[in-house]
Amino acid sequence: MSLPRTLGELRQSPFSEQRLQTRRVKDELRDNLVMKLRQGGPIFPGIVGYDDSVVPQIVNAVLSRHNFILLGLRGQAKSRILRALSTLLDPHMPYVAGCEIHDNPYSPICRRCRDEIAKHGDSTAIAYLTPHERYVEKLATPDVTIADLIGDIDPIKAARGGHELSSEMTVHYGLVPRANRGIFAINELPDLAGKIQVGLFNIMQEGDVQIKGYPIRLPLDIALVFSANPEDYTARGKIVTPLKDRIGSEIRTHYPASIDEGIAITAQEAWTQRNGHRLQVPKYVQEVIERIAFAAREDKKVDKRSGVSQRLPISCMENVISNAERRAIHHDEKLVVPRIGDVYAAMPAITGKLELEYEGEMKGADHVGRELIRTAVARTYDTFFKGVDTQQIVQWFDLGGEIQLPDSAGAAEALQSLRGIQGLMEKLVKLNVGPKDAPEVQVSAAEFVLEGLHAHKRIGRNEERVFTAGEKQPKHTEKPFEREDVPFRGRRPYN
Ligand SMILES: [Zn+2]
Repeated sequence: MSLPRTLGELRQSPFSEQRLQTRRVKDELRDNLVMKLRQGGPIFPGIVGYDDSVVPQIVNAVLSRHNFILLGLRGQAKSRILRALSTLLDPHMPYVAGCEIHDNPYSPICRRCRDEIAKHGDSTAIAYLTPHERYVEKLATPDVTIADLIGDIDPIKAARGGHELSSEMTVHYGLVPRANRGIFAINELPDLAGKIQVGLFNIMQEGDVQIKGYPIRLPLDIALVFSANPEDYTARGKIVTPLKDRIGSEIRTHYPASIDEGIAITAQEAWTQRNGHRLQVPKYVQEVIERIAFAAREDKKVDKRSGVSQRLPISCMENVISNAERRAIHHDEKLVVPRIGDVYAAMPAITGKLELEYEGEMKGADHVGRELIRTAVARTYDTFFKGVDTQQIVQWFDLGGEIQLPDSAGAAEALQSLRGIQGLMEKLVKLNVGPKDAPEVQVSAAEFVLEGLHAHKRIGRNEERVFTAGEKQPKHTEKPFEREDVPFRGRRPYN
């Protein structure tokens, strides 16, 4: 289909004056949303876990033609949702060609376009924007100025054109006017200076702004959406009241409610489809990685106000796969199967995502990270092995058995030693793993059982990843139920 190229052609097309003259962005979003709702199916494909909570509220906000704000901690897909709004825009939006603020050909707001149309009439050139081009995003920081966001008076433009300084012809437009007839998203709204918030409010409310004291008429057509950390947003004085008052809906986001939702998000977001090796991430490894984030979100050593981003399990998964990949390359194995040892090796992808409280700072990020992994392993182990008798395995270690399983150990060799542990391999049926599975799969599963027993303190493990008997009698007076125990108080991280 070829799009009309002049105003005259446009009038005779489906982009008729009757249809477009008063159709504002929020009408367009609403119309297209209504159509999507009638069709059924997901409104925002790829947004996982919000179907019954956040999505219906966003739908209501769009149907209400509201400007709205998403309130949530970091890593709750706020920017992603805002970006997804552009899928509700028309595939092509006509505007007066050459206009910096993408004027509606039937009701241009800038003088240039009005002059242009008066001069050329139906032969005025028309151009188009895609939905992607109509979405503008800005991360608010305290140093954002009115000039950045709204515009500045350009004295040179004024002098050259012989305009008054207060004429709109002299304005060098900022981001907001350039987003005219589109969606403008501001992330972390409370970080915006009060003066700028007032500027935004004026645009929303009055359609005019003051730039360097000159009032400029700018009846823009924009869907304004925002995101913020809930505590910052509700803190007194962070948001100027008239602006807050103009934000129609306040929508709270949240972290995945269940482990399975978390796994689905991580599986979607993490870079796992890599060239080269066949990859098989066991369910229990996925669960452990997800449970690290869940454990961190409830750990009192981790700062609640900043939250624990979903990017933690995503980066962790990528690092876990890489560590397994590295091992596979080294041993020339064709199948990449991550192990729990790889999760411990993925510490660099975990510690940076945790904002620690004082107590956590005292213990150190690595220590907190290892504790979280261990908690995650223990909980995951329980989902697979609750009520399973593992006495025989524990006994093997109690009788002096030892096995070293560095994360770099090749599968064939490791499997050989693991088979020597009485009662171990037959337990893997709980993980749907049997003697006919690839060695990589069997080793990972068996190691998970040992890590699970270790996480429950049934057996011991030192820094060199040697599994041994558990500590039956405390060597020195130790609080028996403290989560961290002797092997963790190491000279160096052992993974
Ligand atoms: Zn214009």
